[in-house]
Amino acid sequence: LVDAIATQVGVALIQAESYANLEDLNEQLEALDRTRSNLVAITGHELRTPLSTIQVCLESLASEPDMSPELRQVMLNTALADAERMRNLIQDFLTLSRLESGRVEWNSEALSINECIELAISNVRSRLSQKKLPQIVNLTPAELPLVQADGEWLVEVLAKLLDNACKFTNSEGQITIAAKPKVGNKLEVTITDTGRGIEPNRLETVFERFYQEEGALRRSAGGTGLGLAICRQIVKNWGGKIWAESEGRDQGSQFHFTIPVFNEGLGDNQATAEFN
Ligand code: ADP
Repeated sequence: LVDAIATQVGVALIQAESYANLEDLNEQLEALDRTRSNLVAITGHELRTPLSTIQVCLESLASEPDMSPELRQVMLNTALADAERMRNLIQDFLTLSRLESGRVEWNSEALSINECIELAISNVRSRLSQKKLPQIVNLTPAELPLVQADGEWLVEVLAKLLDNACKFTNSEGQITIAAKPKVGNKLEVTITDTGRGIEPNRLETVFERFYQEEGALRRSAGGTGLGLAICRQIVKNWGGKIWAESEGRDQGSQFHFTIPVFNEGLGDNQATAEFN
């Protein structure tokens, strides 16, 4: 009888625990659902704006056959720019979703930070080749230790931060990029620009999805408002930190992130755990 009661109590305890877990799970699912609805609403709004512009342009082109060639060109360019914006938005949104849901397979490679920086600089230069860019200077010393990360994603972070620095700095300004060793077996990479700067109370907000200082309707600089959210997810994956510093408006900005140093003696997971 004692055994039977003990078994019953055991079963009841296990059930109670799984009910508690179920409640937790339910709460988590509800939170996830709320996030998803918010995202769908925001994305819908963000996509509708360029879509409406494209529609207005195409309707004018269709209904006004006598439109001047100059105005026709303006309409076409506007529609094309907004189509490009929609494409970038969808691409960034899908990238962020993949990163957040853990559906990305990460490589763990020993990488030269200098080579990654040079690759990111040339990516940005060729992507923005039509624009006159500020001077970009790489001040990273040659003899730094290798880092441990996924090379493609590391170059993506560097390129996005450089891209922003170029967008928010006029062509007379300067962008410097440098890496240095930090305690705890890591490197810190810093991208400094002499551009528009960020208000001190916005230094965290800039990493939120869809945050853009100009607001949704005045995106003179282009972009999707998802770049820094993507960078944060990537850096989080290798156990690093990313943050912004600025003295305020027109004082330039600095973006920093940390990355683990490659440790030959350790397996991938151990290396990440040690870094954490
Ligand atoms: P996007 O650049 O596509 O707008 P991001 O997520 O990369 O989106 O950046 C969010 C916002 O943070 C930008 O719209 C801008 O307001 C601000 N920001 C990012 N980088 C810089 C920078 N280097 N200088 C000034 N402001 C910046």
